[in-house]
Amino acid sequence: MSSVVHKSRKLSLQPNMKMKKLTLAILGILGLLLFQNCDNMEDSDPISQGKIIDVDPSFFITTGLTAPITTVPCTLSNGKSSTCYKIVTNSIPDEHQLGPWCPATITDGKEKGGLWFEGGKIYDVDGAFVKNMGTFYSNSKLLMYKEDGTINVTKSQAACQAAARPNVDPQYQNFCVECQPSYFTGTLSFLIPVTPVQISGTTTDNRMGVRGVAFNGVHFDPPAPTDAILGSFTLAPMDDCGGHVNLASGYHYHAATGCSKEIAQTDGHAPMIGYAMDGFGIFARLDPTGAEPLNLDTCRGHSDEVRGYHYHVAPPGDNNLINCLKGAQGSFSVI
Ligand SMILES: [Zn+2]
Ligand SMILES: [Zn+2]
Repeated sequence: MSSVVHKSRKLSLQPNMKMKKLTLAILGILGLLLFQNCDNMEDSDPISQGKIIDVDPSFFITTGLTAPITTVPCTLSNGKSSTCYKIVTNSIPDEHQLGPWCPATITDGKEKGGLWFEGGKIYDVDGAFVKNMGTFYSNSKLLMYKEDGTINVTKSQAACQAAARPNVDPQYQNFCVECQPSYFTGTLSFLIPVTPVQISGTTTDNRMGVRGVAFNGVHFDPPAPTDAILGSFTLAPMDDCGGHVNLASGYHYHAATGCSKEIAQTDGHAPMIGYAMDGFGIFARLDPTGAEPLNLDTCRGHSDEVRGYHYHVAPPGDNNLINCLKGAQGSFSVI
């Protein structure tokens, strides 16, 4: 009896297994079809339709590099193995001066200070701006100068460190914070894919970090935390080139104001100013006639036949360069 039951179970199992095999086969074919459809969808994407342009390492200013650019194996943010250019710099540009950031007195002109971003606008940080901050921000506690008109400015590496940290040392509240380039002695290493690889979707803020690198080896940073800076009763101006120094990664840009190396385009397009971390080019916002491209996507990118997919930076007052990345990014580290 038991053997009969066993047999009948065995018999009843066989059709199920056949069904399973058949189901697996159908699923496999469906999967293949779906996969091919995905490929087709990517083919219809505007980036894939345009050219993919390799990174050109000769665009970088050699004096901004601490070692010649090499190619190395790398793993991109999509988990895929690739080949990257390794670009090593000390983040000190030599085609423009650094600073000034903080004016010394409330009567100093705009040539003695840098820039500040507020509400999408850019402001000169001159003596009058610092004098007027309490009114400008409707907060009478914002008072960064003494009775004699001298502005409180950080004067040492220790002061810069204490004033720039998230929980600002109370003795540096109501200070204009400036850190000198000499305070940072590290080296920056960028791994950027030789050939950009489009990803499905985009990489946005919290997974992006550093946006890219200028041809002088200076990094394009995410937006400066201006609310947190002001909330701690400090001001950390950018210089007129949109950059300032922190102790973690040295001099970096929060805006592109036309100071760093630009590569002019022969067809009237805006000049190129660097590469994003995904290897797509970064271009100035405006073309030589002062016009901004109208067809930018959410990342501030678009494609054309000459440059393939590329980005155009936001206006300096936006405290932002590009919004997201369309390609798998390499990596950035301080060594
Ligand atoms: Zn910054
Ligand atoms: Zn363009």
